[in-house]
Amino acid sequence: MKKRMIGIMGAMPEEIEGVVGLLSNCEVRSMGQRSYFTGQINGIDAVVVFSRWGKVAAATTVTTLIHEFKITELLFTGVAGAISLDLKIGDIVLGKRLIQHDMDARPLMKQFEIPLLSKTYLESDATHLATAQKAIEIVFENKRLHTIFTEEDLKAFSISEPRLFMGDIASGDQFFSSNEQKNNLNAQLPAVLCVEMEGAAVAQVCYEYEIPFSIIRTISDGADAQSHIDFPSFIKKISSKYAAEIIKNIFLEL
Ligand code: SAH
Repeated sequence: MKKRMIGIMGAMPEEIEGVVGLLSNCEVRSMGQRSYFTGQINGIDAVVVFSRWGKVAAATTVTTLIHEFKITELLFTGVAGAISLDLKIGDIVLGKRLIQHDMDARPLMKQFEIPLLSKTYLESDATHLATAQKAIEIVFENKRLHTIFTEEDLKAFSISEPRLFMGDIASGDQFFSSNEQKNNLNAQLPAVLCVEMEGAAVAQVCYEYEIPFSIIRTISDGADAQSHIDFPSFIKKISSKYAAEIIKNIFLEL
C-alpha cells in the first residue's frame, strides 16, 4: 500500500497555528507565498498549510500538496456562513457534496456545471466523512467544549449545544454579507447548508487527481448583513481552537 501522507489545509492562519502545534518533527518549506509544515501527528505523516482565500488560491495550494508533497488524502478545515436557517454559529458542517455557486457557462452547459467534467456536485469520500463525523461527535460530547473554550466565549457566541450537519456546501469568490446574497443562493440552491470560498475548488482538484477529501466547516456567521461583525471575533476566540481539536481527534480515529 502507498505510504499515507495526509494534507491538512486550513482557511484561517489562526487555525493553522493550532494544527501546526500538533506536528512532531516539524519542518517548514516555503513556496509561492505559502509555508508548508511537515511532520507527524500520532505517528502519521502530515503536511499542514494555510489555503489562502478564494477558489484560485485554494486550488493552487492543493495542487502543490499533490505534486510536491505526494499527499494521499486531504482534510480541509475552515469557517463558513450559514445559509440554512437551521444552522447556528458554532455548528459544524461536513460537506457531503460541494458546488461552485458562481460557475455559470450557460448557454454552453447548465448553470453550476463544471466545464469538461460533466459534473455539478463533487462528492467527498464516504470513509473520510464517517471518520470526521466520529471525531467531531467526540469533540461535542458532554462537557468537552468547556475544556477547550472559556465559559465567557461560549456565552458570547451563544454556543451551548453545537450540532453536526452533513450536506451540501457552496463555494464561490464572494464573501456573503447581505441578506440579498443569502436569499438568492437559498432560492437557487435550497439544499445548500453553508457558503464559503474554497471547498468546491479543492474538491475539484482532488476529484481530478483521485485524492479522497473531506471538507469541514465551522459556522462563523449568518452570511448576512451581520456577518462582518460576527466574523473577526469568532476567528480569534473560537475557530482557532476548534480546528486543532477536530484534527487531533480525526488522527486518533485513523
Ligand atoms: N479575515 C479576512 C477575510 C477572510 S475571507 C478579512 O477580514 O480580511 C473569508 C474566509 O471565511 C474564507 O475562507 C471563506 O471560505 C470563509 N467564510 C466565512 N464566512 C463566509 C461568508 N459569509 N461568505 C463567504 N465566505 C465565508
